[in-house]
Amino acid sequence: MLPLKEKDKPLVQKLLSSGCCPRCVLRFCCINVQSLYKIPPQELLKELKEFIGHGEISVGETIENKSQSDADAEQEADEAPPPKRFKPEETEPMREEESPVCPVCLGVLQEHCDQTLASKVAEAIKTENYEFDSLVLSVSLPAQLCVREHSCWLHVKTEVRAKSLVLGKDDVIQVKEAFKWNMQSLVSKTLGGAAVVSKSAFEVGVEFVHPDTDKDCHFLATTCSDCFKPTKNKESVFTRMAVVKALEKISDTNFLKHYPCPPPRHSSSCVSRDVQCLHTSVFIAGRYNKFCRSLPQTPWLINGERRMESSVEELIAGPILETFRATGFNFSSSGREDVDVRTLGNGRPFAMELINPHKPKFNRDQIKKIQQEINDSSDKIRVRDLQIVSREAMGRMKEGEEEKTKSYRALVWTEKPIEKEDISFLNDIKELTLDQKTPLRVLHRRALAVRPRVIHSMSSEYRDTHHFYLELKTQAGTYIKEFVHGDFGRTKPNMCQLLQTETDILELDVESVDVDWPPPIPE
Ligand code: ZN
Repeated sequence: MLPLKEKDKPLVQKLLSSGCCPRCVLRFCCINVQSLYKIPPQELLKELKEFIGHGEISVGETIENKSQSDADAEQEADEAPPPKRFKPEETEPMREEESPVCPVCLGVLQEHCDQTLASKVAEAIKTENYEFDSLVLSVSLPAQLCVREHSCWLHVKTEVRAKSLVLGKDDVIQVKEAFKWNMQSLVSKTLGGAAVVSKSAFEVGVEFVHPDTDKDCHFLATTCSDCFKPTKNKESVFTRMAVVKALEKISDTNFLKHYPCPPPRHSSSCVSRDVQCLHTSVFIAGRYNKFCRSLPQTPWLINGERRMESSVEELIAGPILETFRATGFNFSSSGREDVDVRTLGNGRPFAMELINPHKPKFNRDQIKKIQQEINDSSDKIRVRDLQIVSREAMGRMKEGEEEKTKSYRALVWTEKPIEKEDISFLNDIKELTLDQKTPLRVLHRRALAVRPRVIHSMSSEYRDTHHFYLELKTQAGTYIKEFVHGDFGRTKPNMCQLLQTETDILELDVESVDVDWPPPIPE
């Protein structure tokens, strides 16, 4: 039994004679009993017809798909015509050629809300071989359904309010809601009991379009032009949001001047596009060492041509992408080293966003295996502390980066011959502030500025008459190469000034990056 009362009869009658499908009738009757939307449309229609007391109205169906019981019901109805008062005056007899497609949902709640679509959804998930605990079903409807919904609302709002004065347009169940109430359980069943919930990291999207009626929205652009501003990424200005906004602004009279009420029928129903599956990004972090002086951090391209055959990020990303079966990634790190600089010690913290991972869950042992795989694949790099982190935690890597300390070891050449004693004074220099003008070599990508940077301490280790090792603890962001060779006086003071001779840097290693994230993982 439908939860309808005597005074709902004119409303149901009016909706049915406008060609509304039975589920849209329930929606406009503000019925929020989910199970009722799962009743097959034919059955529901029969109940609605029985409720209003006759079966003369042909709605949302063709003669062929009428069941025997429907026909019986009509027979009975013919024999016992309903009391006149339930037959509103404006009811026009339906003509045979009138379309069975619901003019309000354009078929979404009629032919699209069934097992065929549930199977299509399940097939898409299986084809892409996603692993998931739960999924959320999202549905995208053509924007003109809002116009049609509004038209239908204006058509029956008197009757809806007769039902109860407190009811308004917001109490009408949305097409999306009704669709989900029906489809969620069908999809769940088809997937063998998967949890289809309202919030999940795994989203499966169904999109309906109805190009023939796209122009339904167009009059709104003249009545409410400021709602429709062109945006970069949208194909059309008539987005659902813009249409909803315009409909909130337009007066009933103005709407009715431009658009029929009830909404006009159309011979075809919506079509569903390909099912889109998307898992939210997973974030993975760790530290890397780089042992090679000819490996860039990111792919090195000049005019679209590769300069080096690999890169740190590619060596790390390869096995990770493959295991998570992600479709892309974004790599970031705490600072970066030049192609000819090694990163030793505990390594440099890095984090990666894995886009649309098809297999998003791994335990610690499995992550350890991936780390091992990366380390076995190349002797140019090594990864440690690999772990899954949250998007928020990633921010900690960049937090207060400038205040962090970095340690370096450089091999320095001097033009003048040196003795051990000539360089020992360097060990006593503490908290030396440099003024670094943006280095010439990075001027093409960084703004010209003078940045003060602090060298916290230095220590020297004599090698031969023209070479010594220099260890430095510096504020992050200090350009070490420029401190040693002076960058044509753009870094002051510099090593040339300190030693009163030309000096140059032959090798540089990063010894430690003092960022306490991600947390270390015992080997
Ligand atoms: Zn409908």
